[in-house]
Amino acid sequence: MSKENLLKHLRNIPDYPMKGIQFKDVTSWFMNPDDLREIADTMYEMYKDKGITKVCGIESRGFIVGAILAEKLGAGFVPVRKPGKLPYEKVSMEYKKEYGFDRLEMHIDSITKDDVVLIHDDLLATGGTAKASCELVSRFKPKKIMACFIIELTNLKARCSFPEGIEVSSMIEMDEFENL
Ligand code: AMP
Repeated sequence: MSKENLLKHLRNIPDYPMKGIQFKDVTSWFMNPDDLREIADTMYEMYKDKGITKVCGIESRGFIVGAILAEKLGAGFVPVRKPGKLPYEKVSMEYKKEYGFDRLEMHIDSITKDDVVLIHDDLLATGGTAKASCELVSRFKPKKIMACFIIELTNLKARCSFPEGIEVSSMIEMDEFENL
C-alpha cells in the first residue's frame, strides 16, 4: 500500500484538542485490518536487522504499534507512562510542554546496558515528548537508542533537535496541512 492510499484513510480533526491543531487520528488506521498490517509490516522491515532488544512505547497511542512491533522483532515491550500509572519503583523525567510541564516515568529495571532500544510513538509533532523519552532511556545507558514514528509532521522540524547519536525514522513524512 502506498503512502497516498494510507493517507486517504487518515482522519484529520481540525482544532482538536485545541484551536489551531490539525489532529491526525491514527485510530482510523488501527481499526482497519489492512492499514494496521501495512503499518506493522513496514515498521518491521525498517527494524528487523537492527538488533532491537526492547521497544519503548510512549503512552498511549505508542503502545499499540509498539507492542506489535516488539512481538514481531522478538524484543521486549516497555511502556513509557504518564505520572502515577506504574506500580513499581520508577525513574522519571520532567519536560517542558507548550503550556507548563509534564512528566514521563519508566520502571527502574526496564532497560539494561546490553539493550538496543527502539522508542516508538504514533506521531512526531514538536518532539517534546519523544526527546524527553530519549533522555529518560539514555539514563539506563543502553548500547544504542533509535526512535521511530508512524507520522512525522515535517513542518514542525522536530527531528533536527534530537540528541546526537539517536537515529530517528518515520514511516510517513507529511506537512500537518497536507491532504486536507
Ligand atoms: P509532541 O511532543 O509535540 O511531539 O507531541 C507528540 C504527542 O502528542 C504524540 O504522542 C502524539 O500522539 C500527540 N500529538 C501531537 N500533535 C498531534 C497531532 N497534530 N495529531 C495527532 N497527535 C498529535
